[in-house]
Amino acid sequence: MADITVCRHLHGFLPSVLCFCILWPAMVNILRKNFKLETLNCNSVFCNYHYLCLLFKIIKITMQLSSILQRFNEPETLKMAKLGRELRAKGIDVIDLSLGEPDFDTPQHIKDAAIKAINDNWSHYTPVAGFADLKEAICTKFKRDNNLDYKPENIVASTGAKQSLANAILALADDGDEVIIPTPYWVTYSELVKIARAKVVEIHTTPEAGFKITPAQLEAAITGNTKVFLFSSPCNPSGAVYNKAELEGLAEVFRKHPGITILSDEIYEYINFIGSHESIAQFADLKDRVVIINGLSKGFAMTGWRLGYIAAHPDIAKACEKLQGQFTSGTCSIAQKAGVVALTTDLRPSMEMVEEFTRRRARVMELIKEIPGIKCFEPEGAFYIFPDISYYFGKTDGETTIENSADFSMYLLNNAHVSSVMGDAFGEPKCVRFSFANSLPNIERAWARIKEALAKLK
Ligand code: PLP
Repeated sequence: MADITVCRHLHGFLPSVLCFCILWPAMVNILRKNFKLETLNCNSVFCNYHYLCLLFKIIKITMQLSSILQRFNEPETLKMAKLGRELRAKGIDVIDLSLGEPDFDTPQHIKDAAIKAINDNWSHYTPVAGFADLKEAICTKFKRDNNLDYKPENIVASTGAKQSLANAILALADDGDEVIIPTPYWVTYSELVKIARAKVVEIHTTPEAGFKITPAQLEAAITGNTKVFLFSSPCNPSGAVYNKAELEGLAEVFRKHPGITILSDEIYEYINFIGSHESIAQFADLKDRVVIINGLSKGFAMTGWRLGYIAAHPDIAKACEKLQGQFTSGTCSIAQKAGVVALTTDLRPSMEMVEEFTRRRARVMELIKEIPGIKCFEPEGAFYIFPDISYYFGKTDGETTIENSADFSMYLLNNAHVSSVMGDAFGEPKCVRFSFANSLPNIERAWARIKEALAKLK
């Protein structure tokens, strides 16, 4: 009897051991890639022991933490910046073209307002949706810049536009709902949708189409489960900017589908190289179905201040306020007081920043033309170029072979010491994002290095 039990156990155990041994090399490869352990010699006993420990650690952590963490990824933009910082800490001169923030200081009059707010003791908790004067200032801005009439009940201020987006997506999208997002899109969109347990439906755009969707593409993507349409204009990463006629074309489709809410991320509103900014909320019959996402990070060089906001139908605004009330409460009192001044006074410093971005865009477009094989759409807004680099797929410098945009970005980081962000992170695997929110001399140096490194790929 005992012999039979032992045999039965061995019967299940031996194939498992065999399976494990066969799969182990593949497992080691995954661990090496994901945990940046390429330097370890994978054949040594020590190394196999090390990987085994790592595997057990991962299994243990995965068992301890909640399932929500397995639904979404860390932002690639931040990962690349972190890798760049690590190289810099080793004394390597890395030029950062990965991060999405203006390289300018916050204008002085905004800083003065913050200092005054500190001295005036604006140091207590704030109302969840924002101070009354901030909400009024946001309404004033909408009237001045967009000719849109909003009241304070439409406004919720948050800890950055990222939180505004998270609030809006969690307030609107449920398990099983579909959220349509044109590619390429900002890294966080798809991850927030996954956190909400909704489904991302991508509409693919091309550089030839100016990275914009057509009404026919939108119509074809809509199903009975479509709940939200989410896009940015100006777009991060492509730089595409929808004009009024293009928005009108999309509006025609939305009129036929009254159940869809439109999230319009307009955070790059001021950084526009083709003229006026157009919001889809301008169509009066759609306005109640549009949630405008905006913030002070990009237009006022205030990324670290963490101030974003939405304008939405009061029911949606209340839902966002309810969510925020449990997550973070009202955003920073000092940032809010400074925000009032930023939004209601002199826009000249912001416009000067845009003039500088315009000069850099022109120079980057010249520099990129000198590099063989790269196809680049000229951005109409924001401060990125998003070229198609697929010409380099399959090429090698003898050591590294470029298989995808992640390899391309890593190759540039290791060989040109320039950081960028792989297109996969934005839903467009053939492209890579390079920021031009860096000084002209750094941009010149970075592109000279990129040119030299890419010339080695055959
Ligand atoms: N929306 C887009 C398209 C962005 O690129 C970013 C930041 O990079 C945000 C929203 C978030 O901005 P904030 O700094 O206000 O959270």
